[in-house]
Amino acid sequence: MQGLRALPSVDRLLSGVEGQALVARHGRAAVTDALRAALENAREAVRRGGAAPDGAAIASRAAEALEAGAQSALPPVLNLTGTVLHTNLGRAVLAEVAVEAASAAMRHPAALEFDLSTGRRGERDALVAPLICELTGAEAATVVNNNAAAVLLVLNALAEGREAIVSRGELVEIGGAFRIPDIMARAGVRLVEVGTTNRTHPRDYGNAVTPQTALMMKVHPSNYRIEGFTAAVPAAEVAAMAREAGVPMLNDLGSGTLVDMTRWGLPAEPTVRQAVAEGADIVTFSGDKLLGGPQAGFIVGRPDLIARINRNPLKRALRLDKIRLAAIEATLRLYRDPDRLAERLPTLRMLTRRREEIAAQALRLLAPVAAMLPDYRVKVVDCSSQIGSGALPVETLPSAALAFTGQGGEAPEKLAARLRALPLPVIGRIRDGALLLDLRCLPDDGTLLGALAAR
Ligand SMILES: *Cc1c(COP(=O)(O)O)cnc(C)c1O
Repeated sequence: MQGLRALPSVDRLLSGVEGQALVARHGRAAVTDALRAALENAREAVRRGGAAPDGAAIASRAAEALEAGAQSALPPVLNLTGTVLHTNLGRAVLAEVAVEAASAAMRHPAALEFDLSTGRRGERDALVAPLICELTGAEAATVVNNNAAAVLLVLNALAEGREAIVSRGELVEIGGAFRIPDIMARAGVRLVEVGTTNRTHPRDYGNAVTPQTALMMKVHPSNYRIEGFTAAVPAAEVAAMAREAGVPMLNDLGSGTLVDMTRWGLPAEPTVRQAVAEGADIVTFSGDKLLGGPQAGFIVGRPDLIARINRNPLKRALRLDKIRLAAIEATLRLYRDPDRLAERLPTLRMLTRRREEIAAQALRLLAPVAAMLPDYRVKVVDCSSQIGSGALPVETLPSAALAFTGQGGEAPEKLAARLRALPLPVIGRIRDGALLLDLRCLPDDGTLLGALAAR
């Protein structure tokens, strides 16, 4: 094999001009590995009868591999799917004040468990619990990794080894393997199902109470709706029956919200304050659904129960770090001024954008975008956005989109793949053979034009 001897050594490649430039950018260890791999490929090609590439070609192969490896696996993307709280795209976009608070907490030491007035050890929950109580009317609060963790922790702390009563109509699967029966089993709680899929009555709960009953639970059916011949027992009644049975009542709101969404013309979603006022002993809800904060799970309710929950060893395993606590605190503070919430909280800002405004933006963008993608026909179409994350699943928000179809009849999947490969990936959705870019979540015109220009 004459050609094999023509190949340079790793050392020679490393000390060459290209090799040195790569070392300056990626470090010696990574470059050595990449050059070895590129050399191995070259040897393979020569063995199959090809010509031996020169040093520059091998270095350039290595450079490509190194660049590909240097790309972030979690790049920002432009969410034009029309789903505002897209779980696969990271749900809520945080408010600017929350981003600042989180980066300050990352950059500096913070008084996370340190009481600045006494100089002694403090409680990390004390950073946000008073604010949560103020905004929900609850007497005590704690916060964990997400709402799934909140439900797991509450069930384990309050009902391990005993029974919890839940309506069959509320045994939900949220997605990502979160199913109420499975969470119950993991929490060590025996699930007692009552009623039927479509109808559950007060007597169903009453008849199921035994000396082993530890909890009555209500789950907000966030991602589906049962219609027709239905009956469910209102939370207030379940709470009253739980009180009579001498056990706590847990209400898992899922998304929940801290403010009445109808004030902005959005579909009604139960508020945490309502759920507390209805007599639930514990209410759980998410941080990154309608609340618009970072991923987190809130647990609010009776102080004696919150204390028990905090003593449970799972709490330590599920607790939050300073970065998220800082972001949560800043997000919650925005709720003290509901009048300006829709300007400041991106989730609410996007949810409350009016169709006319989005359609006007689509018309503005139509010509420049069409010029940038000449192989496609583009037009402005009406569409429906979704809130997402299981929140208010049946309700949609009227919106507008740029719709693309291939001039030569190409599948819209091809354009979708092209847009996903941009430096700032643009994610749309396919409907009726067209790629739709729903502009509800587009922060400004320039962001889309800039993304499409960077090809
Ligand atoms: C979304 C949801 C959960 C899980 O909340 P995460 O914050 O995603 O962990 C639990 N229960 C209900 C009813 C939900 O809608």
